[in-house]
Amino acid sequence: MKDLPARRLLLVHAHPDDESINNGATMARYAAEGAHVTLVTCTLGEEGEVIPPALAHLAADRDDALGPHRVGELAAAMKELGVTDHRFLGGAGRFRDSGMLGTEQNERPGAFWATPVDEAAGPLVEIVREVRPQVLVTYDPDGGYGHPDHIQAHRVAMRAAELAADPAYGTDAPHTIAKVYWNRVERSVVEAAFDRLRTTAPDTFPGIAAVTDVPGVVDGDGITAEIDGTAYAGAKAAAMRAHATQIVVEGEGEGKGAGAFFALSNGLGQPLLTTEYYQLVRGVPGAAGGAREDDLFAGLPGVGLGAEAVRESEPGSGSTSGPGSASYADPGAGHGSGSEAGA
Ligand SMILES: [Zn+2]
Repeated sequence: MKDLPARRLLLVHAHPDDESINNGATMARYAAEGAHVTLVTCTLGEEGEVIPPALAHLAADRDDALGPHRVGELAAAMKELGVTDHRFLGGAGRFRDSGMLGTEQNERPGAFWATPVDEAAGPLVEIVREVRPQVLVTYDPDGGYGHPDHIQAHRVAMRAAELAADPAYGTDAPHTIAKVYWNRVERSVVEAAFDRLRTTAPDTFPGIAAVTDVPGVVDGDGITAEIDGTAYAGAKAAAMRAHATQIVVEGEGEGKGAGAFFALSNGLGQPLLTTEYYQLVRGVPGAAGGAREDDLFAGLPGVGLGAEAVRESEPGSGSTSGPGSASYADPGAGHGSGSEAGA
């Protein structure tokens, strides 16, 4: 891929739908601005529950045909976000959804959770070295909420970033990802959104979820970047709606996604957030004085708006001494890398 845009963003997710819920507005924004957005989804989400009764037969305990169906849902969602480069880790179906923690599916042969981290990281290293992203987005060490595939996606993404930068690993030119972010949600923001939802929830929701049901919630000081995706609220809502077996979206204001709510298979309403939050855990912050970044590429050389025509310098020329390799930020107490070892 020789003619990649100057700005390149890679997102690693566990199942189809996670990308739209967590990063839909961010992905739509960068795609619209001309950045190259690459989504890698680690499983087909075969173990997901199915919301529409007419499709209930697809479930793993019936026809076990949900995976291929969700491939189509993901493709439709990416169309809504304007993202053309979306791939499954190792190819569609290579790693199977591991189910919720403690189920027998966790240890099934081929389950993502049962795969050694380095084995699953291999195909991701290939993608990193091909696309050469400056920015990686994935989950925190808990996977945001403890789902085995989300925890494993975190481990595999972090390990692939490390291996891709290692000249001793493989034969392709190494690449150092300058900035790595974990998905976050700001506690005060989501609390206020739930308050609003309690007064306006559609009758179709049997109840309202709790803040503890939202992955990645932290206090404001755990957040270093805030992406205002208001202009892409409609695209995010449409992408989430494309995952029709998994998500119901309601309450949109004038079709633009503003004020929308959604529910997963438990039917409990949650606010659809169009400002998306991140914590920089590797790399140099691009905002002065500890202020929040409003751009995940902030501070990177040669990637400002309008820089999309600029090509990257020769592969490998800065890969071991480039931005980020020398001065990785401390991710902070409680979110450190100490819990990342092992599987
Ligand atoms: Zn998921």
